[in-house]
Amino acid sequence: MPISRTRPDELARRVAELEAERELTLRLAQTDSLTGLPNRGAFTSELCTRLEAARAQDRRVALFIIDLDRFKHLNDTLGHHAGDLLLAEMGERLRAGAQGGEVSARLGGDEFAVISEAEDVGARARRLLSRLTQPLSIYGRVVSPSASVGVAVYPDDACDASDLQRFADMALYRVKTRGGRRWSVFDAELRAENERRQTLETELRRAIPAGEIEPWFQPVVDSATGRVTGVEVLARWNHPEQGLLTPAAFVPIAEELGLIGQIDQAVFDTACARAAPWVAEGLIESISCNVSPRDLLDPAFSRKLIRRLSRTALPATALTVEITETFLLQDLALARRHIERLAAKGVRIALDDFGTGYSNVRALMNLPIHTVKLDRSLIEAVGRDVRVSKLVTTMLHAARSLDVRIVAEGVEEAAQAAFLRAAGCERMQGYLFARPMPADAMENHLRESAEGLAAAPAAPVLARRRRA
Ligand code: C2E
Ligand code: CA
Ligand code: CA
Repeated sequence: MPISRTRPDELARRVAELEAERELTLRLAQTDSLTGLPNRGAFTSELCTRLEAARAQDRRVALFIIDLDRFKHLNDTLGHHAGDLLLAEMGERLRAGAQGGEVSARLGGDEFAVISEAEDVGARARRLLSRLTQPLSIYGRVVSPSASVGVAVYPDDACDASDLQRFADMALYRVKTRGGRRWSVFDAELRAENERRQTLETELRRAIPAGEIEPWFQPVVDSATGRVTGVEVLARWNHPEQGLLTPAAFVPIAEELGLIGQIDQAVFDTACARAAPWVAEGLIESISCNVSPRDLLDPAFSRKLIRRLSRTALPATALTVEITETFLLQDLALARRHIERLAAKGVRIALDDFGTGYSNVRALMNLPIHTVKLDRSLIEAVGRDVRVSKLVTTMLHAARSLDVRIVAEGVEEAAQAAFLRAAGCERMQGYLFARPMPADAMENHLRESAEGLAAAPAAPVLARRRRA
């Protein structure tokens, strides 16, 4: 019906309807559907509003970030529906327990937040914890939730919303790494850590384009002959003041800052350029590159890697991409897509750090995984701890039957190598053979070991000649 002929009261009704609909849509967009609490988006704008008001009125505001402990375990054992019930109950407890104009929100997953003007943040955190950890019954089972809380206070700790959140997160993270079930407030120790990280961030952003992060190489050897069959690429940062830094000093923060992709690409390009001639000359068969689980979250990761690889002189069949199991657990569907896309081009996939996590044997059967790298923690105990020795023997046996190659990592002692060799492990890597080294040194090492092998025939041949 044309507007001109619509009666004014009908028009008013329709306007009101549209208005109500708009409000509902807006509310739904700001509400977490499981708990009915404000979601992350709504929470962030609420935090900004509250901080502005606090600034104007010279008041303090505390931000509590709450994370349930062992929530994944509950989800895995009782099922996702039970997990949802627990989250809904936590939401209800936060809403019902709000004091003096507090706002609670669900930030996502099992993470919640409370904005509060409580004077005594310690007392408030303790009350929050005791409320949230009351036992409850889910499907007839008594569940005792456990939670951790991180706190940061405006204006004592930070003046803007994003710093306040980051600092509360740091406090939370510290509690979590110390076993959870507690609260912790941002303090001088965390402030010093924050400053260290900021310096590191600035330096890292400068170092990547400056080419300070470069590939080093560690040989992987054939257990039977000692011949170097391949190399693993390991990143090193040539820091202008601190000297050579290993990945432990910069990979975790680079992952957090979203810079790891740039590092991996730079290391990959340089490593391929250096190692392609080694492969072409037959000095090695393949090179292995590490990729961060963060890289793999990019749905275009495998396509991009194939494109980068095609710009190098390295054949796809001479590249192994090392991924960790954690990623398989995070997003199996995406992992499968990347792995299958790479495998279709001839790129090999290695499962790194096997034996540290879930050691998902099913993944080995269902995915085109070529190599498994047995973690150093297992190799260390081999020959000393009977159970580990048995486990490694069984793993080697299973790998052979699945047609998966095993590389033992971190072999430091001749006794470990002897055990592994006897158990049928074909490839080894570790300080016993060589430490990681820069490209030039690696090239010399490869030439020397090739010459050495050419000069000295392999032991079994000698033995046969002597017998003849
Ligand atoms: P990883 O992939 O498990 O690499 C093996 C680590 O064990 C390397 O440490 C290597 O130097 C060390 N290693 C090798 N043999 C022995 C041994 O006999 N004894 C002992 N104690 N250690 C040995 P590194 O180079 O410090 O690298 C640490 C981790 O950093 C790597 O573990 C890998 O996960 C990560 N990483 C290294 N380079 C890169 C990179 O370019 N990108 C990404 N995303 N991660 C990297
Ligand atoms: Ca690796
Ligand atoms: Ca490893």
